[in-house]
Order: sequence, then structure tokens, then C-alpha cells
Amino acid sequence: MDCIFCKIVDGELPAKKVYEDEHVVAFHDINPIAPVHVLMIPKKHIPSLLAIGEADKELIGHLHLSLQKVAEAMDVKESGFRVVTNIGTHGQQTVFHLHYHLIGGRQLEWTM
Ligand code: AMP
Ligand code: ZN
Repeated sequence: MDCIFCKIVDGELPAKKVYEDEHVVAFHDINPIAPVHVLMIPKKHIPSLLAIGEADKELIGHLHLSLQKVAEAMDVKESGFRVVTNIGTHGQQTVFHLHYHLIGGRQLEWTM
């Protein structure tokens, strides 16, 4: 499959990983918008939040618990951070493999 995040999962493309286990992997965004900008993905190819199915419930829960670990590892638990997933055209999704941006390390603003 021609998916850059699947290639990162398979080791075909390099990534600066900050967390990995059997089901998920987190790595630095190649174009960070803040001092901390990590992408958390399931290893399973799911195109977006809209494609999450009943069978993925446990995986998505696991991914959220893993986000807690990444927040701790990136030292943003106390200062706070934001988790975002973009969906479709208006959401400006550019990579069609489900991913959550974990953004922090500076004061964020809420702009759309
Ligand atoms: P989105 O626009 O929500 O689909 O986010 C895709 C994100 O993936 C963007 O923030 C890109 O900078 C990031 N990105 C694209 N290619 C790579 C890559 N090879 N390694 C790390 N991050 C990437
Ligand atoms: Zn993929």
C-alpha cells in the first residue's frame, strides 16, 4: 500500500520514534509547528477517524493511553498540550492513515 505512515510502521521510511509497542507508534512530525509535535498512529492502516470500526475500540483506547505515555516522555503533562486529528478536506487531512497530533511545549492559541 502506498501509505507513508505504513512505510514508517514497516521501517521502509525513517522516523524519529518516541514511543512504540505492538499496536501503535509515535514519532516526531517532520514539519513541527511547536517545540513538541509528535504524531501517534495505530500500526493498523485506518484511513481516518471516520473509518474506525467497532473492532477497533480496544485499539483506540490503547492509543489514548499511549498518548499519556508520550505526553510524559515529552515532558508536557504539567504544562499541557493539544491532541488533534484532522479529517477530510475541510479538516485539511493530508495523510490518510489515522494519526493524532500531540502538540505542546509552548502556549497554544485556538485559531481555526
Ligand atoms: P495531516 O495534515 O493532519 O494529515 O498531518 C500529516 C502530518 O504528517 C503533517 O503534519 C506532516 O508534517 C507530517 N508528515 C508527513 N510526512 C511525514 C514523515 N515522513 N515523517 C513525519 N511526519 C510526516
Ligand atoms: Zn497506512
